[in-house]
Amino acid sequence: MNGIKDLKSCSQEEMQELVLQLGQPKFRAAQLFDWMCKGAESFDEMKNVPAAFKTQLQNAGYFISYASVYRKWVSRIDKTVKYLFELHDKERVEAVVMQYKHGYSMCISTQAGCRMGCRFCASTIDGKQRDLTAGEMLSQIFAAQKDLNIRISNVVLMGMGEPLDNFDNTVRFLKLAGNEKGLHIGMRHISVSTCGLVEGIRRLKDLNLQITLSVSLHAADNATRDQIMPVNKKWPIEVLLQACREYIEVTGRRISFEYAVIKGVNDTPQDADKLADLLKGMLCHVNLIPVNPVKEEFVKPDRIYIEKFADRLKNKGINTTIRRTLGADIQASCGQLRAKDRTETAVL
Ligand code: SAH
Repeated sequence: MNGIKDLKSCSQEEMQELVLQLGQPKFRAAQLFDWMCKGAESFDEMKNVPAAFKTQLQNAGYFISYASVYRKWVSRIDKTVKYLFELHDKERVEAVVMQYKHGYSMCISTQAGCRMGCRFCASTIDGKQRDLTAGEMLSQIFAAQKDLNIRISNVVLMGMGEPLDNFDNTVRFLKLAGNEKGLHIGMRHISVSTCGLVEGIRRLKDLNLQITLSVSLHAADNATRDQIMPVNKKWPIEVLLQACREYIEVTGRRISFEYAVIKGVNDTPQDADKLADLLKGMLCHVNLIPVNPVKEEFVKPDRIYIEKFADRLKNKGINTTIRRTLGADIQASCGQLRAKDRTETAVL
């Protein structure tokens, strides 16, 4: 059983193995798995499972992960909803639900905190507390669906944490989310965002999944990237982009490069030209994010400069969009998710 103790993180096959190990009839595995697919949050809920078996599972250290709504904020501007979820050990993580024309998209967390140290990002300020289990990633979606009475159709792993720093649990999540009896969110509807962990990108490439990979680039030269993203010292831009090219070649999937535009740091026409040169000929897309205020030193350029930056990339043949800012009044935008310190804010 790979030491996985969270029942919600188990595959159907693993559940069968577990049930046999515990000397229970095979059909119990299907029962358990069905409950997990429905998003069960406790042993009590599983009325058709005998108490003795539940006790046996608990004695063997098995538990059912959940994410309970601890706080909730609703944007008055665009109805974006931000959640602060509490997990079984009182760790808290944030997630955001956004409404688009085609349905609801949810941004979930993969770790409590983050250890990547990007200077402009709030999630990393207190470091990493722990990795989330696959079940805890699923649970965030179950909880939002239940709370809002909606179906989430798209998921982005762009909340707190670095998904590829929690590789196995993330891949487990990707596989479980597609289950037809469960959330039924196929990999084509899931984006995984990384700050550029090259080892992880290579492992992901070998799995050849149908997800969208987003790479947070944010700078077009190593001197600038070194200053804002410590990960660049380990895997500089040329190494990262080589891994990206290999990823595209193997999977045939377009990569989305995220570029937070920061005034006086990476927003000049020369930066746009350097970026275009770096990405020339790649099957990719650039998503410009006007940087969101987290620390005073990082300020977003005026809209006109961001548009000019985008036009310059487009003129050089790079597919470019500027990300919409949602939930600005509830601090629900990229890089603003940080569980601590905001727990006492009013609930709307
Ligand atoms: N660790 C992953 C995913 C989480 S962050 C990653 O780094 O990609 C999701 C996106 O928000 C990343 O592109 C991240 O760089 C970006 N981001 C972080 N802080 C931001 C800020 N203050 N303004 C705009 N984007 C930010």
